[in-house]
Amino acid sequence: MVCSPLPIPQNILQNFIKSPCPLLRVMIILMGVNMEKLFPETALRDFINTNSGNFVKKEIALRPDLAGMRIFAEPLFGFAAAEDPYFAELKKPGIIGAHFKAPREWLPEAKTVISLFLPFTETVKSANRRDMSWPATEWLHARVEGQEFQDEICKYTVKLLKDGGFDAVSPMVDPGFARVSPSITDKTEQGFYTSNWSERHIAYACGLGTFGLSKGLITAKGIAGRYISVITTAFFEPDKRPYTGIYDYCNNCGVCAKNCPAGAISPEKGKIHYLCSDFVESTREKHRPRFGCGKCQVKVPCESGIPGRIAAQ
Ligand code: SF4
Ligand code: SF4
Repeated sequence: MVCSPLPIPQNILQNFIKSPCPLLRVMIILMGVNMEKLFPETALRDFINTNSGNFVKKEIALRPDLAGMRIFAEPLFGFAAAEDPYFAELKKPGIIGAHFKAPREWLPEAKTVISLFLPFTETVKSANRRDMSWPATEWLHARVEGQEFQDEICKYTVKLLKDGGFDAVSPMVDPGFARVSPSITDKTEQGFYTSNWSERHIAYACGLGTFGLSKGLITAKGIAGRYISVITTAFFEPDKRPYTGIYDYCNNCGVCAKNCPAGAISPEKGKIHYLCSDFVESTREKHRPRFGCGKCQVKVPCESGIPGRIAAQ
């Protein structure tokens, strides 16, 4: 859910961010201002809009015209209570499994989980629409340098919260993150591709969107992009999920299945993860050290919004 910045004076906000003083925080809360959400949102928007990590550096640009290309557009934010019963559901077989670690297993005093959807810019998406067989150069940068910047956003958010006097963990950059269920070694098993934290499931819990046939998450800004999340002891009002079913925003049009160069998606079977993984690996052979695909995220009705609805700005 998008949270509009509230008209809190910047100097007060900056003081809060810089000072761990609990009295100052209490004073701001007593002013009746929901500063909690404004606090991370304002700082994170600023970080994403201005940090050099969100722009392809001249020294590594794969083409001269890509130097300075912006990777992620304006983010969407979602908030969930750390004790939301949905997190226990994720431990069930067939969803993620027992190896999923709920927020309070990462941080026992956790109160909130914050999720961000980072949509790719129009430059990245439009480039990947041109040739539906191989990833566009812009997409390769977005996938690889974008991942590096995602990690930076995670670390920055943790620091921001800690500087504000709270504790925080971002599982994707935490040493406790484990990519594969330890009991499954056969890569043709769907469970092979799960991990003990799932950004898409967390984004669903935080009200950001629902799953599509391609197993991406369809948000108010579409499916083409990435996610990050942070667990914190700070309390932020949870967002109400504006849906009830996990596939509510997918119209089952099947375009993502038609786009997939690996035949990894079908309306009957959903997504076959190992076929996708094998194809993405083949792009690595061609573009090493980069890789990517994302043809199920472009030229689809859910690329930049919820099908049948006007995309969020
Ligand atoms: S392309 Fe169509 S079927 Fe695939 S996820 Fe998007 S809305 Fe669903
Ligand atoms: S990323 Fe590519 S290979 Fe994987 S499901 Fe999407 S379109 Fe298919």
